[in-house]
Amino acid sequence: MGRLQGKNAIITGAAGGIGLETTILFAREGANVLLADISEPALAKAIAKVKEVVPNAPRLETIKCDVSKEADVQAMVESQDSWGGVDVIFNNAGIMHADDADAVDTQEKIWDLTQSINVKGVWFGCKHAVLSLRRNKKTVGSIINTASFVALMGAATPQLAYTASKGAVLALTRELAVVHAREGFRFNSLCPGPLNTPLLQDWLGDDQAKRFRREVHFPSGRFGEAVEQAQAVLFLASDESSFVNGTDFVVDGGLSKKCTSADINMQAYVTPE
Ligand code: NAD
Repeated sequence: MGRLQGKNAIITGAAGGIGLETTILFAREGANVLLADISEPALAKAIAKVKEVVPNAPRLETIKCDVSKEADVQAMVESQDSWGGVDVIFNNAGIMHADDADAVDTQEKIWDLTQSINVKGVWFGCKHAVLSLRRNKKTVGSIINTASFVALMGAATPQLAYTASKGAVLALTRELAVVHAREGFRFNSLCPGPLNTPLLQDWLGDDQAKRFRREVHFPSGRFGEAVEQAQAVLFLASDESSFVNGTDFVVDGGLSKKCTSADINMQAYVTPE
């Protein structure tokens, strides 16, 4: 028996770093997975990859979904009713815009776009998951929302819209965890540390000073890998975590234990040799 045997799961941002690795682990552990992403070409590549590495995967399908549009999210969740209804949703899609900056330089349109995908998208995913769990008479459900370590400690490399959006994810997840606990629906946030995925690596680019300000804090001396996040999501999705609810589940290699916000601010003024 797989750890998610027979469960129906939805993963948003499934074509990206964390989403794809999570899809692979979920499929390997017996879940039926609906892969959702805004990019259809990326979804096609992602499902081909999952089928290649998990040839005996149960049910796998893709759906194009822009999580900032409620109609898309509703259609995505309702499409799993014919599978028996969603048991697990991983609201993982998110952006970190190249023009995201500090309080002075962040444009309002970048702020609004970031909140729209990173916060409203998570709210819509939670809302339609709750409606589906109730509609399908489920007594157990697991909702995992991707936040970030920056929501807990801030970032020396400014990305204010992103940091604020992830703080909102933590706050709304905690509240939903309390509100729905007696229905058996668990809500947890995943707080990844800095990862080796395009989202962060493209943003850091070849700006050595910006890279140094990030890397100087790593207790483990390296970026995390997407699969290391996926392993945590698998635990939160499975019944093994049945008494884990409302947590900011931090998977950051110890980064947030090593530095305080004050350290980060100090380090912002340190430049590489
Ligand atoms: P990624 O860029 O590799 O994947 C993100 C995926 O989301 C992409 O496939 C993209 O097409 C999709 N997406 C973007 N906008 C969308 C929308 N409106 N609707 C649906 N899908 C959309 O990024 P990743 O590193 O796998 O990040 C996944 C999550 O983890 C994000 O929420 C991100 O903020 C968070 N996170 C990442 C890091 C990191 O260092 N990579 C650290 C902390 C948190």
